[in-house]
Amino acid sequence: MATKKKKVKTVVDDQKPKRVFGDFQCSKCNRTWSSANTWTGMRQKCKICKIYVSPHKTNPLRRGNTDYNKEKHPEELCEMCIKLRHSCKN
Ligand SMILES: [Zn+2]
Ligand SMILES: [Zn+2]
Repeated sequence: MATKKKKVKTVVDDQKPKRVFGDFQCSKCNRTWSSANTWTGMRQKCKICKIYVSPHKTNPLRRGNTDYNKEKHPEELCEMCIKLRHSCKN
């Protein structure tokens, strides 16, 4: 018989990054992209220049206009994924 233990975190952490919708523009090649898998305080790398870019604009995720689960998310370009060492979508 398997008993599942649920870990309930009661610690309120305001510093915890939140998933938002971010718009990026690379300062080197001027490429623009947006990602529904953007985290506050985290950056994403330009896939051409491989440099970290901070989002110039972030919006809260809203149901309907963004679907981060369906988005193809390049883990090697996302600072959050790199820190977690797995996809930030999981
Ligand atoms: Zn670039
Ligand atoms: Zn990620």
